Amino acid sequence: MPIHLHRRHLLAGTGAVLSALALPHPARAAIAPFRRRLGAIELTVISDGVLNAPMSFALPETPAADAIALFAAHGHPPEWPQPQTNVSLIKIGNELVLIDAGSGSNFQPTAGKLAENMEAAGIDPATITKVVFSHCHPDHLWGAIDEFNDERFAKASYVVPALEWDFWLNPNTPDSLPEAFKGAALGNARILKRLEAKVERRNANDAVAPGLSYVETFGHTPGHMAVLVESEGQHLMIGGDVLTHGVVSFARPEWRTGADHDKDRGIATRRRLLDRLATDKHALVGFHLPWPGHGMVERSGTAFRFVPL
Ligand SMILES: [Zn+2]
Repeated sequence: MPIHLHRRHLLAGTGAVLSALALPHPARAAIAPFRRRLGAIELTVISDGVLNAPMSFALPETPAADAIALFAAHGHPPEWPQPQTNVSLIKIGNELVLIDAGSGSNFQPTAGKLAENMEAAGIDPATITKVVFSHCHPDHLWGAIDEFNDERFAKASYVVPALEWDFWLNPNTPDSLPEAFKGAALGNARILKRLEAKVERRNANDAVAPGLSYVETFGHTPGHMAVLVESEGQHLMIGGDVLTHGVVSFARPEWRTGADHDKDRGIATRRRLLDRLATDKHALVGFHLPWPGHGMVERSGTAFRFVPL
C-alpha cells in the first residue's frame, strides 16, 4: 500500500513524519462515501465532517420546547444534531465535478475532513475538473484552498453564482452583516479573489457542467443556487442549504432559520423547492441533512417529510 506523505506532515517536522509512517493510516477512520447511479452519471457523496451550530443559532425565534416536541413526534432525540456536511461528486464522461468544497482546516475542528475522506475513497483531488458552488458560506467555499493557500483541486475550474460573487466581493458587505458573520465575509472575499482567474460566474437555469444546471434558490444567501442533475431522463436535486434539518425543514418549513440571510425569502424558497421535489418525485441531496442526505420528499398533511434512501 503506498504511503502518502502530505506537506502538512512535512511541515510539522520529522517527528510528525515518523508518526505518520508508524501510525495506522488516518484513512481508516474515514467515512466511506455513498454512491448511486443516475442514468449515465455516477454520484458519490463524501463527508466533510460535522459542524457545531446550537439550536439557538439555527432556530433563533422558535421556543426550544416547540422544537423538542416536534422532534419527539418524529421519534428523534431532544437535542439539536450536529449538522452533517455532505459534499456531492458527479462523474459524467470525462468530467469529475464537485458540488461545493467543504470548509477546509480554518473553520471548525470537526469539519474540513473532505480531503482525507476523498483520499480514503481513492479519489485524487487532482482529478477534479470543476467545482460548482451552491453559495459562498465558509463550510462550502473555504475547502477550495489548503493550509498553504494553494488550490486543493489544482486542475479544477470554478463556477460561482453571479449574485454570490457580487455580494461577497462588495466591500460594503462585511459591515452590512451581523457581527458574527463579519469575519467569515472577509474570508469569503479573500478566497474568491484567490480563485478569480479560474472562476466562471453563472445565473439561474445556466448549464454549469454537462447534465448540471443552476436552480434559483435565493434566501439562505443572496445568490444561493441548487444544482439540478439530469441524465437519461432521470433527475436529482443537490439542494445546498435550502433544507438543512431532517425534520424541521420539511415539517415546519415556515420556521425562520438563523443561518438564512433573508429569512422570509428562505421560507418561500424552502416551500417552493419542497413542492417541486414532492411533485416531480426527484431525489434530493441535502448538504446538512443526516448523512448522506440523500432521499425523497413526500407530502405529509399540509407540510412534507424527508424519506432517506
Ligand atoms: Zn452550509
